[in-house]
Amino acid sequence: MENLENKKIAFQNFYSILKGIHGSLGKWWPGEREEIIVSAVLTQNTNWKNVERALNNIKEVCSGDILICLHNLPDEQLTNLIRPAGFYNIKAKRLRQLLNWLENYEFKLDKIAGKDAFELRKELLEINGIGKETADSIILYAFEKPIFVIDAYTKRLLKRIFGIEFNDYDEYREFFEDNYEKTVELYQEFHGLIVEHAKLYCTSKPKCDICPIDFCLFNRQDKPF
Ligand code: SF4
Repeated sequence: MENLENKKIAFQNFYSILKGIHGSLGKWWPGEREEIIVSAVLTQNTNWKNVERALNNIKEVCSGDILICLHNLPDEQLTNLIRPAGFYNIKAKRLRQLLNWLENYEFKLDKIAGKDAFELRKELLEINGIGKETADSIILYAFEKPIFVIDAYTKRLLKRIFGIEFNDYDEYREFFEDNYEKTVELYQEFHGLIVEHAKLYCTSKPKCDICPIDFCLFNRQDKPF
């Protein structure tokens, strides 16, 4: 019990520790709402450079509302535009389904933004190929509702630094939401800080010798908790 309490106290300082290391990241996810919705699908299983290349292709063709423009494109052209993001056939299908869902709202994003976060999540999860991480990214970064995004980096850092592991996605999400105030700005930046830390230091082969987190359980012999 004491062990868990100690971990929780350390975890409650995690955001400010990461912010001290990486500085303020603000919203972190770049682009307007429409771009965020598209990039949430494109970023699945690829790096951001490839997403940017696909987004640049899209912007060359779509000068107005990119959602309406993409929706009006034939499948083959849509697939070609997003080719740099990898897994382009499957991502084109996912994007198409997401665009069809948006069409139900006549692409009026303010209409969707008026929905409750979990009502919106339920609808997004009914779309083929939209999992919890993608749905929550759209809800947090495009529709600016406080839901915590969990990804593989989040799980890795929690396990290595605090020795904390859960069985499923929502247990991780609830752990963050129970221990931190539910605010959009905090959740947006916190997720960004986690990703930046995992990319810079806590890579699959961790760079513990240069990582500033000195209390990390993974890197300590004396196991502080
Ligand atoms: S000390 Fe090592 S394992 Fe811990 S967060 Fe840093 S890089 Fe990752």
